[in-house]
Amino acid sequence: MFGLMNDAPLLIADTLVHAARAHADQEIVTQTVEGPIHRYTWSDCHHRAQQLARALADLGLGFGDRVATIAWNTHRHLETYFATSGSGLVCHTINPRLHPEQVAYIVGHAEDRAILVDLTMLPLVQALAGKLPSVRHVVVMTDRAHMPDGVPAEFLCYEDLLAAQPADYDWPRFDERTASSLCYTSGTTGNPKGVLYSHRSTVLHSFAIALPGAFALGERVSLLPVVPMFHVNAWGTPYAAAITGTRLVMPGPRLDGDSLFKLMDSDGVTKSAGVPTVWLGLLQAMKMAGRAPAALEQVVIGGSAASRTMIEAFEGFGVDVLHAWGMTETSPLGTACMLKPGREADDKDARYATLVKQGRTVFGVQSKIVDPDGAALPHDGKAHGEVKVRGPWIASGYYRQPDDSAFDADGWFATADVATIDPDGYMQIVDRTKDLIKSGGEWISSIDLENAAVAHADIAQAAVIGIPDERWGERPLLIAVAAEGADPTREAVLVHLADHVAKWWLPEEVIFVDQLPLGATGKVQKTKLREQYARPAG
Ligand code: ADP
Repeated sequence: MFGLMNDAPLLIADTLVHAARAHADQEIVTQTVEGPIHRYTWSDCHHRAQQLARALADLGLGFGDRVATIAWNTHRHLETYFATSGSGLVCHTINPRLHPEQVAYIVGHAEDRAILVDLTMLPLVQALAGKLPSVRHVVVMTDRAHMPDGVPAEFLCYEDLLAAQPADYDWPRFDERTASSLCYTSGTTGNPKGVLYSHRSTVLHSFAIALPGAFALGERVSLLPVVPMFHVNAWGTPYAAAITGTRLVMPGPRLDGDSLFKLMDSDGVTKSAGVPTVWLGLLQAMKMAGRAPAALEQVVIGGSAASRTMIEAFEGFGVDVLHAWGMTETSPLGTACMLKPGREADDKDARYATLVKQGRTVFGVQSKIVDPDGAALPHDGKAHGEVKVRGPWIASGYYRQPDDSAFDADGWFATADVATIDPDGYMQIVDRTKDLIKSGGEWISSIDLENAAVAHADIAQAAVIGIPDERWGERPLLIAVAAEGADPTREAVLVHLADHVAKWWLPEEVIFVDQLPLGATGKVQKTKLREQYARPAG
């Protein structure tokens, strides 16, 4: 017997319609690409998304067509999210930090029909002229006054398109399983692979991230997503903000620590979300100012492991940290680390031992750790194995990709992350499968070593890779960036590490560099480091 409830589909357009009705005057603030701060409301956003949806239809774009965006976190990008998905198009967000060849590859793979591009990324699109055969229209996301000289005559101006349209578009109704957006993994592990989200997965994920045990969004929250809208939909925050009437503060292209501090400080930002490398910059600005941005209460750290040093640094300024884990294939939220009531009274070390974990699964996500034969391992906080997850916002395959080896018939997706899970359900990522260092038949966690290294006051950033070793198979190599003004020695670092890790974990060598290579999503590129430093065995 079925329940007698309305079988209404979960559609992205409805999140915006709701925001425009229930939170009409809630503000959306943007540090624009052009320079000035732009302010408007969820109601304005809805009207302009309606205009854009009409304009895209007039360009001949139809249901299921892919529309690419190459853009920062701005109000125009937000409108594009809703206008494309809401009208049945697929919003394909492209990471501008990818190599141009990779951009051409994924535009071709996705067969994007149109590209909406920010002014700063226009040269990238122009450089790819002739290499994007599927693309019929390029829309420059600015107004007429800022259209640069020399732009090809056929390139369209975003504001001109909107101005020509009334704002009375009726959002179509369709199956909630319809594709809504497309995001390619940034290729730190090989060729970019397309993850194709649906309206249903997106709306359910939005509910999940808005919950108190996750990002805890709501109309009293002023959220600055540093995580780009071209990377896993800014972790789903635009949709969740619409559902909850959260105030959004969009940083545009200015993601350095000083600019973030200024914008957060002047615009009452209470919460923010991003990867650790971004937070290093903000923490530096906070140290210079001797305080946190005025209203900042919490930062969400994900994408790479949050070290105790970083968590303590934020807490020292009165800012809470929520450590979260996920990936493009998981929309991304999989786990979030909140202290459960029993752990609130823990002593300092025990408390941080919990907070550096990636946390417990949020409702909707199931997880397990498995051995190489696929057998489930115990949740004892010690056994470690590959993490598998499943749930309504976990991918079930890659877009137009015949290799489906990461997905099994029971819906489990193999993440290639290795973790432990403790009896309370807290997962701790030990490493990515390919980053684990196998030494003398035992495993060394590069994340643990990196966290121990940055606990040294003279070290700002650290990356550990395995280098081939004739006797042990592999040995760890520590590559470190010194803190500003510091000049740490190899010996001092090794003495420090010996206090934190087993002796056989101690790196073979410590190399100091001015900076670590960062990939398209702001993470350390270990593949690059391996190419540079991994010497052949013997
Ligand atoms: P990629 O980095 O491959 O481009 P993603 O952005 O989807 O793709 O990154 C997902 C990966 O980032 C995860 O599989 C995991 O290895 C890592 N990751 C994400 N969050 C955390 C975290 N809190 N701690 C450690 N690693 C994390």
